[in-house]
Amino acid sequence: MDSRLAIYPGSFDPVTNGHLDLIERASQIFGRLVVTVARNSEKAPMFNLKERVEMLREVTQLLPNVEVDTFEGLLVDYARKLGSHVILRGIRAVSDYEYELQMALMNRKLEPQLETVFMLPAVEYSFLSSHLVRELAALGGSLSGLVPPAVERRLRIKVAD
Ligand code: ADP
Repeated sequence: MDSRLAIYPGSFDPVTNGHLDLIERASQIFGRLVVTVARNSEKAPMFNLKERVEMLREVTQLLPNVEVDTFEGLLVDYARKLGSHVILRGIRAVSDYEYELQMALMNRKLEPQLETVFMLPAVEYSFLSSHLVRELAALGGSLSGLVPPAVERRLRIKVAD
């Protein structure tokens, strides 16, 4: 087990400034952070796996201790394979808490060595979700300050298609 390694799993469809805020904070705490995109999400994504990974790589390229990967199947198996015992998740509001608690406790039951660490984003991102960003983009709303410019460009192209 690598005590300096943490993994940050999610859908990242697409990565937002809220995700990025958490990634930047975590990269200052952990020696190595692996942001990992779930391949077996139930949802029909707006961006395919390759696009989501590309966007994450683009926006984290200046953070030398951050890597981007994908995983399929149980997160506990992936964490074990990587030798990580820390899962990072974000909590925005009370509404996130119940779902995150359920997941964290289920993961702990599956792998008692695995700790879930929760972090809070800057307050200006505490209302921000990928879902909201997709809706806004589809309706032509301003995405300024919500996603990195590279992601905004991709969203504009995607909704124009
Ligand atoms: P998932 O489908 O696994 O919830 P998401 O990409 O939506 O994937 O979110 C991944 C993680 O990032 C979750 O823990 C979520 O709570 C957190 N997160 C998403 N948006 C924000 C945000 N604006 N601020 C902080 N954490 C966030």
